[in-house]
Amino acid sequence: MSKKNIIPIFIPFQGCPHLCVYCNQNRITGNEETLSLDGIRQRIEEQISYFKKDHPIEVAFYGGTFTMLPFSKQLEYFEGVQNYMEKGIIDSIRFSTRPDAIRKNELVELKKMGLKTVELGIQSIDSTVREASGRGGNIKIYEESIETIRQLELDLGLQQMIGLPEDTFEKTMDTARWIKKMKADFVRIYPTLVIRDTELEVMYKKGQYHPLFLEESVEWVAELLEFYSKHKISVIRVGLPPFEEESSFVAGPVHPQMREWANSLRVYYRTRSVLEGNEIGNHLIIKGTQKNINGLVGPNKIGKKKIEDAFNVRVQFVNTKNPEKFLIDTGKETLEVSMKDFR
Ligand code: SF4
Repeated sequence: MSKKNIIPIFIPFQGCPHLCVYCNQNRITGNEETLSLDGIRQRIEEQISYFKKDHPIEVAFYGGTFTMLPFSKQLEYFEGVQNYMEKGIIDSIRFSTRPDAIRKNELVELKKMGLKTVELGIQSIDSTVREASGRGGNIKIYEESIETIRQLELDLGLQQMIGLPEDTFEKTMDTARWIKKMKADFVRIYPTLVIRDTELEVMYKKGQYHPLFLEESVEWVAELLEFYSKHKISVIRVGLPPFEEESSFVAGPVHPQMREWANSLRVYYRTRSVLEGNEIGNHLIIKGTQKNINGLVGPNKIGKKKIEDAFNVRVQFVNTKNPEKFLIDTGKETLEVSMKDFR
């Protein structure tokens, strides 16, 4: 996907038919109120001054269920951006919404006004997970909505959550396989957090819910990144941005470099599978590009330490120019680790 500059406009809970148990948009965004149209224009003016105009600029309405707003309100939001589109300052518009709230005739009108991308919060394709999360919905209707978005040739982003109530690793991977089947243009992965003032906080405090442990979450994310990478689906985000106020966070797997950590696990798994069963000395020399080496080393050198601990060796790195593979000198022979599809 080509890179875009995004101007996020938060419309917390607007259009939401009910609250999902894990969600508190005000806590997530730190915005207590929805911007007025003047406020939106001001936000656009502020943000465009930061961007270099070498990438398209897209205004994004996040944090609510855009297509469940009255259509007159949806049009009002889009009209607030038209002036910038006519001047060529803003290139397009996107929004996030529920996958069971898509009406073709409305999307047709919004497309004429610059709609380019629709993001759907799938979270899980497992109905027990969705029920336990207060999300509801019906997969057949989700698939019909996606078909509509495809017919209109809009870009499709799908959001997946891991570690919701009743979730398992198998259900998470089933969701990933379904997302692949739906041919998403991009994906966001959100490990579930317990956020202050949510139903999930109540469940957590009563002992009815426990979030994933951090390491478990990183392992799930690593498997998902490997899967999406193999199927050439871009993952544009892992995890929520940091909370504005620390007190908004109650429990759950957060790490500022979760993606990098998960990536180092991916490379560790690949390297381990090549090394296993081979005779190795007490010293490994791993040759690869700096990018791939950084991918393996990971935050706090976690990936490097894992190899050293697993094989009781010292690891040394040497830079090469070949991004397709690592060459590992074991002291006895040279082994190859494919770095294909690593991104
Ligand atoms: S997750 Fe989405 S649909 Fe659910 S309450 Fe939050 S904003 Fe609304």
